[in-house]
Amino acid sequence: MVFTLVSFASVAAGVVDYSSVTVRYQAVHDSFNMTLIERAKTGSSTPEIDIVARAEGVPAEQVASGVIDGTIVIPANPLHTCLEPRGVGKGLRTKVNANIGTSSDSCDVDAELRKMRVAILSGADAMMDLSTGGDITATRRTLISECTVPFGTVPIYQAGIQAIETRGAIVDLTVEDLFDAVESHARDGVDFMTIHCGVTQSTIERLRMQGRVTNIVSRGGAFLTAWMLHNEQENPFFEYYDRLLEMARKYDFALSLGDGLRPGCTADASDRAQFQELILLGELVQRAREGNVQVFVEGPGHVPIDQIVANVQMEKTICQGAPFYVLGPLVTDIGAGYDHITGAIGGAIAASAGADFLCYVTPSEHLGLPDEDDVRDGVIASMIAAHAADMAKGVRGAAAWDRKMSQARKSLDWTTQAELALVPDLARKRHLKTPTQDQACSMCGKYCAMEIVEKYLGVSPAVRPNRPSL
Ligand code: SF4
Repeated sequence: MVFTLVSFASVAAGVVDYSSVTVRYQAVHDSFNMTLIERAKTGSSTPEIDIVARAEGVPAEQVASGVIDGTIVIPANPLHTCLEPRGVGKGLRTKVNANIGTSSDSCDVDAELRKMRVAILSGADAMMDLSTGGDITATRRTLISECTVPFGTVPIYQAGIQAIETRGAIVDLTVEDLFDAVESHARDGVDFMTIHCGVTQSTIERLRMQGRVTNIVSRGGAFLTAWMLHNEQENPFFEYYDRLLEMARKYDFALSLGDGLRPGCTADASDRAQFQELILLGELVQRAREGNVQVFVEGPGHVPIDQIVANVQMEKTICQGAPFYVLGPLVTDIGAGYDHITGAIGGAIAASAGADFLCYVTPSEHLGLPDEDDVRDGVIASMIAAHAADMAKGVRGAAAWDRKMSQARKSLDWTTQAELALVPDLARKRHLKTPTQDQACSMCGKYCAMEIVEKYLGVSPAVRPNRPSL
């Protein structure tokens, strides 16, 4: 396995430096005997930890200690041969995940591949393939073969759809179908898998007693609930959790404990069903750690602004500091068409309160399958949220990046401003859209506030670089 880390947006600002790190990782076979946590516990350095430490600009010992105590997760299946590992968790830059995948209405693998390239080029730190249409296995293998960031899936989607296609109904799934799906994803090199272990008979009972507006909006949670109610059995991923841990240990993939009971609307946020599931997930985090399996926890969903901080604190407390992977959260239900914004608002608040990993939301959320533009807009919106939170968290380099941008603004240095922007081409294009007579932009033209004040404050005028050309 060769790890070659590429640069992306924040490199320009000197926030992280992935460009110089190339490591040849020879431990593929060894890792079948030892997970990353176990290797970290031996005290010797591991390529994944070294790469993450160098990229984040923090000591390798800090990352190793986070991996050992479970507050940092580095999803890195040794069978994912083109992976450039990223760390998620305490003291690290807030990461952004982008979901792609086919559906029963649109199963164009090339289109999903293009979306993945757009997402990674835009700065996504992880990809999840949520395919439910066409040849799901072929789609996953095609995507993962060129995915350079951690790659996640939800195996129950494939198991459930295969059960419907071959046996007629989701309720005809077998326990073996579920574990076979997990193992086949692991063999394909999937780095992290969302498994809804906390959807149990007890949480479903809480849901019934609660009385929700939108019941369950998690697809995996819905599949499992239908199966459990019809078959009057416990969730196999809960009942046979040790088997799941054994598989995760064998292939060294990370568990993303899914929030099948996440609120699907603001009215359902922070209810008894949601927190019943979270309590169970806290117990499962502890068991994963005891089994030397990396684990993080998924979170809501739709949450009003005033409840977000409490949700993060609850997760951090109940799950003993396990990295928190929030899906948005969306702070209102009425933003259809602009839900990348409602998600980014919630993401910024959640991450500033301690959430570690933001799942993007696209403008197509709740409306349809996203296209490439939606993917780009979703990633950028979440990156802005993550960066804003990183400034509040004191993440190395985050505030310095803003300061550099402000200095370039003060100097009316449009070239540097564009270079420091998350989307340089867009910044350049918008600046040049309306011609101006001087160095200031067309917003105030010759009445540029910064130029006027600089003149009367008596400070020497800043160097005024030439305007860039398109
Ligand atoms: S013209 Fe106005 S908006 Fe443009 S740089 Fe000067 S102060 Fe800022």
